[in-house]
Amino acid sequence: MQDTLRRIRVILVGTTHPGNIGSTARAMKTMGLSDLVLVDPRHFPAAEATTLAAGADDLLVNARVLQRLEEAVAGCVWVVGTTARRRGHSVPVLAPDAAARDLVARAARGPVALVFGRESSGLSNDELDHCNALVQIPTDPGFSSLNLAAAVQVLAYACRMAALEHAVASPPAYDPDPPATQAELEGLFEHYLRALVRIEFLDPEKPRHLMRRLRHLYLRAGLSASEVRILRGILTHTERGGGRPLDRP
Ligand code: SAH
Repeated sequence: MQDTLRRIRVILVGTTHPGNIGSTARAMKTMGLSDLVLVDPRHFPAAEATTLAAGADDLLVNARVLQRLEEAVAGCVWVVGTTARRRGHSVPVLAPDAAARDLVARAARGPVALVFGRESSGLSNDELDHCNALVQIPTDPGFSSLNLAAAVQVLAYACRMAALEHAVASPPAYDPDPPATQAELEGLFEHYLRALVRIEFLDPEKPRHLMRRLRHLYLRAGLSASEVRILRGILTHTERGGGRPLDRP
């Protein structure tokens, strides 16, 4: 169980108050999680973080600080974003127990991540676009936003419960069809953009809406690495005009 929980990465994006980083480390360590990544924190390292970690400072010492969410999730096979509010999402929004069961099951096949947003404004739409699914803690609709570290505690607890309740498969020694990493998916999305512009299906000046719809479609699907290779093979062939010159008027 410990191994599984260690493969659940907690990513804090743009944290303003270092105390929340310390309280997050404490919340994680009590639940057996240890992989903390900070994306563009305002103040870190900071004395207040160490104070509020209250003995979980080893997580702070080992925390990696990165500039962009994309780097933090690159090696992950499943990424769950957190949101206090329902917005118009086209990836599923799960309750904590369902999201945690899913994360724990997928952690057997590679690193997975839970992503938390800024105290003031949460995660941006571009950041949510890196998530395979979202999780919302069902709070009172009139007052839905938890303190950041409190939200980490609730979800870390849900992950621990899921790992305790469900016999966790140990990672297969040989995985014949491993899940795609986020970096492989980003490669697919870039390839899509190039190919769709090349065949004039997409206006490079206005790619956003279609690309976002495609991202969500493939993020939801949970592709394997070999499926990504098949799609990229089709795109390469499409870019070349399917083996014969493109019909142009
Ligand atoms: N005003 C922001 C709230 C930010 S709270 C907004 O509306 O998005 C800071 C972070 O705590 C959020 O980005 C999220 O990671 C977490 N959080 C707070 N309340 C939550 C809830 N009800 N469900 C899931 N995550 C929550």
